[in-house]
Amino acid sequence: MKIIPTKLIYGYSTGGLVSQRNNNTQNRVLFTNCISPPDTINISFKKSSEKPLYISDLREIPDLHCGCCGKTMIKNSKVNHFMEQKIYYPAAISLKRIKQEHYFNESKASPAEKEAYAFLKTYASIYPKLTISEILSKRNVKMRRQQLKPEVSEACEDIRELTKLIAHNSKYMVNEISKLNPDFHKVEKKVFKELQWLSKKYPNLTFNDILNIPQIYNYHLRNLESKQIAVLNEVSKVANYLDEPTKEKVLKATKIAKKIFKEESREIFHKRSRVISEYHNILAEESDRIEIQELFEILDYLPNSSTDVDAFMIKGAQKSSNSIVEILIGRQRNTFEHVKPHRRENDNGPNSIYNYIGLCGKCNAERQREEYDKFIKKHPEMPENEQLQINQIIYYINQGILTGYDDYLPKIAKALDIESKGNIKINIDKLDLKKAKENRKIRQDIYVENKKAKKQKHENITI
Ligand SMILES: [Zn+2]
Repeated sequence: MKIIPTKLIYGYSTGGLVSQRNNNTQNRVLFTNCISPPDTINISFKKSSEKPLYISDLREIPDLHCGCCGKTMIKNSKVNHFMEQKIYYPAAISLKRIKQEHYFNESKASPAEKEAYAFLKTYASIYPKLTISEILSKRNVKMRRQQLKPEVSEACEDIRELTKLIAHNSKYMVNEISKLNPDFHKVEKKVFKELQWLSKKYPNLTFNDILNIPQIYNYHLRNLESKQIAVLNEVSKVANYLDEPTKEKVLKATKIAKKIFKEESREIFHKRSRVISEYHNILAEESDRIEIQELFEILDYLPNSSTDVDAFMIKGAQKSSNSIVEILIGRQRNTFEHVKPHRRENDNGPNSIYNYIGLCGKCNAERQREEYDKFIKKHPEMPENEQLQINQIIYYINQGILTGYDDYLPKIAKALDIESKGNIKINIDKLDLKKAKENRKIRQDIYVENKKAKKQKHENITI
């Protein structure tokens, strides 16, 4: 099963980037979920052996606990590093394979696409071990890229996306994920176990190939559909207690919902969210009534890839193997959570450290723009876990390791208090900025001393 990036399907590019195979209706579309884009863009590639003198981003604090579920998160840069080093192929290989596997058809490529391919190929031969993202983040390549025509530079991005479709087999994937040993949530743990089991059966196939084996796909689809129908049947039961006109509306929405789940083609996406919006549209006038709000609470139980293994597998079948890994690992990634939600209507939360706490990718995706007082009802452990996280942050500030956060704590404590309507009260009494300053100085001195000693050693060897 081949997968192509969304923009390539929907007419963004009509050149050689879209192979004949990509026009096949069986193709799947990559769509992102879980993590808001700003959290995934900042890629830094530090040598793993190189320990930074200071940390200046709370997403880089080792083993930070999620402020909601309390699970240990993986550093943002470690996830990026894992994807680049272990999951994506070096450009020298992936550029060849996108041709061999017909993602990139040179004979149909536009002049800009051909030029972009040649540009990337040149650097792939200079840096044979690096992925395209790593190559494009190199300063000399960036400078050269700026001299390219805009359409050529844009085509580099398209080719980068295509190379991400080249995947290792399932045996390799589960082995690498096991070595990373993420502190998976319940659903993701089950998904991973299932993938491990399947990889033993089909070691040479990719995740995407396996999830598209008809008997495996249909097994998960049947399970998923039966759970969806069970929730809709619950909704119908509630409808019996409503007045006749409202009951009619609910039954009408339920009929449409069943049709969406049972009859629509597997090529059509976002069925769950479309079902919920059908109910919202049909019951718009009654939305303030308590019974209708309860009905929507039942609809919340409709399985999705975050709450249900079968839903994950069905969604996974529509994604590239590398995306499946990114989603799984991404749910343990330390991401910035906007305390005051970003893009909230008429009251936008800023992109600033004073508005950030660390949430794992999974909790971050779940919260979206929901008010904390409502969110905490579903996650009563949040106030305690957020305090746990704050205690870790205090430790890193006091030790002189986390810098740029000296005035963070009073501000974030206030923001959490306001946003949660008093449900999250943070204690920052252990913050000791005097100690932090002293420790920073000590660390700096040790660093300078070590550097001097290294230089001295080097000079002695040279003499
Ligand atoms: Zn979490």
